[in-house]
Amino acid sequence: MILKTEVCRFCESDIESVINFGKMPIANGFISSVDLDNEYFFNLEAAYCPKCTLFQLVEMPDPKILFNQNYAYHSGESNSMQLHFSEICDLLINKYNLNKNHFCVEIGNNDGGIVEYLNLKGFSHLGVDPSKNVSDIAKGKGINVLNDYFSLETSNKIIQSNSKADFILAANALAHIPDLYSVFSGIENLLTDKGIFITEDPYLLDVLNKTSYDQIYDEHVFIFSLTSMQNICNKFNLEIFDVEHVNTAGGSLRYFISKKNVYKKSSNFNKFLDYENNKNLLDTNTYKLFSNNCLNSKNTTIDLFDKILSENKSICGYGATSKSTTIFNYCNIDTKYIKFITDTTKIKQNKLSPGMHIPIYDYEYFQKNQTDYCFLLAWNL
Ligand code: SAM
Repeated sequence: MILKTEVCRFCESDIESVINFGKMPIANGFISSVDLDNEYFFNLEAAYCPKCTLFQLVEMPDPKILFNQNYAYHSGESNSMQLHFSEICDLLINKYNLNKNHFCVEIGNNDGGIVEYLNLKGFSHLGVDPSKNVSDIAKGKGINVLNDYFSLETSNKIIQSNSKADFILAANALAHIPDLYSVFSGIENLLTDKGIFITEDPYLLDVLNKTSYDQIYDEHVFIFSLTSMQNICNKFNLEIFDVEHVNTAGGSLRYFISKKNVYKKSSNFNKFLDYENNKNLLDTNTYKLFSNNCLNSKNTTIDLFDKILSENKSICGYGATSKSTTIFNYCNIDTKYIKFITDTTKIKQNKLSPGMHIPIYDYEYFQKNQTDYCFLLAWNL
């Protein structure tokens, strides 16, 4: 099933199309050759809302198709994400005086997440994630896990079985959840009166500035900015009191959110709001420029690959990322250009890349079959 919208998924105003990438497979849908006849496609089109600035997908496959027992992204495989999560754990302890009486909930903790480090240090925690395979890995590490979608209903279940949360955490999770009303009312409900919700996701201005159109794929139903996040919080008893830029996921914004009028707003808050105003997030021309930049990037990528092939040189891909699915399918890059992709995640190995069907092999294969060029796909890590 496809969740398609003609109006803003949050404020229901008319949206304006930014770019249509055309037919696209599931970004994390690494596929076996025997299953090729059943490969699933949808139309990947991004739009923005001129009223609340929310950048969003027009079509999104049903989350049950994306987040299930076969979810292929495992953050435990990434050393840089592990370091990042342990640093967030330290931030909670050092800046927010996390103690053993506090209860922390992480939305989308995947195969470990921030709660993995909280667990190692003996803090009370719960990870909530609907993808069964990664939840099982997290449980195997001794982490407390609820294998479910975070929503208003889930927040009530957590309050009944545990308590309200002093800290709610999310990294690269909110952008994946189409029902913002359910998620934010769940957060408002679950958070204690002085509780803090820390969430980070790819930042719209990084995507626009870097032409990183590979951030646009089925799972990223939203790409947030401070302005759009503020508009969302305004509808609830929630407000952003601090914000900071972090380098993960290709450039992200980390939002510190509480109930209204609890914490003093930081100077960073106004700094980022001014920055966004200066970057004209409400101006159609901003998105026209981005769309043109994407087309230019596609053309220069294909020209470069053609030149390499004309010199009889070979290319492989490094990191079978979900993001590369958008690049390969938009640019029509298949095995003519890329011999194979290497990835350390076992669930992706010996499968084919979504849509373009480039074979994926382990690191040993990469070392033994050296190519002249390597196309870095996991650039954000
Ligand atoms: N937090 C990890 C990180 O930053 O690397 C994992 C991010 S992964 C890209 C997104 C995770 O969000 C997946 O594990 C997915 O199963 C989970 N997710 C998707 N929808 C969710 C929902 N409604 N509630 C909680 N988690 C969700």
